[in-house]
Amino acid sequence: MTIDTNNDQFRLAARPSGLPKDSDWQFSSPALADLQDGEMRVKTLYLSLDPAMRGWMNGGKSYIRPVEIGGVMRAGGVGVVVESKSPRFAVGDTVSGGIGVQRYWQGQADDKTSAFTRIDPAVAPLETWLNTLGMPGMTAYFGLLDVGQPKAGETVVVSGAAGAVGQTVGQVAKKLGCRVVGIAGGKDKCDFVVNELGFDACIDYKNGSVKDGLKEHCPAGVDVYFDNVGGDILDTVLTRINMKARIVICGAISQYNNTTPVQGPSNYLALLVNRARMEGMVVFDYAPRYQEGVAQLASWLKDGSIKSRTDVVEGLENFPAALLMLFEGKNFGKLVLKVAES
Ligand code: NAP
Repeated sequence: MTIDTNNDQFRLAARPSGLPKDSDWQFSSPALADLQDGEMRVKTLYLSLDPAMRGWMNGGKSYIRPVEIGGVMRAGGVGVVVESKSPRFAVGDTVSGGIGVQRYWQGQADDKTSAFTRIDPAVAPLETWLNTLGMPGMTAYFGLLDVGQPKAGETVVVSGAAGAVGQTVGQVAKKLGCRVVGIAGGKDKCDFVVNELGFDACIDYKNGSVKDGLKEHCPAGVDVYFDNVGGDILDTVLTRINMKARIVICGAISQYNNTTPVQGPSNYLALLVNRARMEGMVVFDYAPRYQEGVAQLASWLKDGSIKSRTDVVEGLENFPAALLMLFEGKNFGKLVLKVAES
């Protein structure tokens, strides 16, 4: 086994305007310092690439502090403890937490900003711990159940349907006995969510009208809309909601790279007419309940009643280009970056 003496890191060089450019990143390879008492070193195996990363690159107030200029880019990931002076983690432990876009994380094992937890690789492949059993799965599970509150027989619509969050939202809603209609870009993604994941229908927003698709596939209207994209699609879904509908504002990827103000929903009075509710959610609020979500989703994965699709790109050096895939719809399933073999 070779022992690395240096790290590799992507740091934020500038706050982007629009889509991130290569010049917004700085790549560096500093020497790895010796561990102090209480510290551990985690070797990155997989990194989670998330649309939210774009927001973390902006300045200003949000639900989490921005990544500082010159700071290592924030990223969740899974890795293995390769050195430890902490009583909490032992060499060989597989862990999940805020690793950052780097080959090694090292620091105090109880560092709250990275919050590592031990995971069991026997339960599911490591990539799945960044998808269904990780942050996107928790977002889907608690966002749908707690905020969307779907009931059997209701119609649930989810955008970004073939993506990380969307795939689990739709599958969980099916389990609850709902009619599930996805919205995704392209025939392949739509075929996948219907034929592989069991959605009732999928609207290909890149090759047809969302309005017509909703009329056709949601004849009884929309009771729950799980919104991952915002923009025109949110506006269109608002025209089809039912009385007391629940709209989960999970994300608005169509707006993240705007250089003009975010497009708000011009049809918001549909909320008034239908006594409906639109509510934002942030997955981190559910951290105290993650174990419950993981246990349920893991048991459904184990019995084969739900699936987890990941899209793996290899090589830390490909991080800047891989991140852009999310905003071009080039990922098919949860996008992860494989950094090293386990
Ligand atoms: P994802 O769906 O796996 O990947 C992003 C997908 O968004 C792309 O593949 C693309 O799919 C779609 N997309 C990109 N640009 C678009 C556009 N202009 N209009 C419509 N669709 C577009 O990503 P994810 O990780 O599951 O995240 C989905 C959403 O959930 C994001 O908005 C993210 O910020 C949000 N999120 C929120 C929380 C929270 O706590 N609130 C947590 C996790 C994620 P198509 O090919 O189908 O267009």
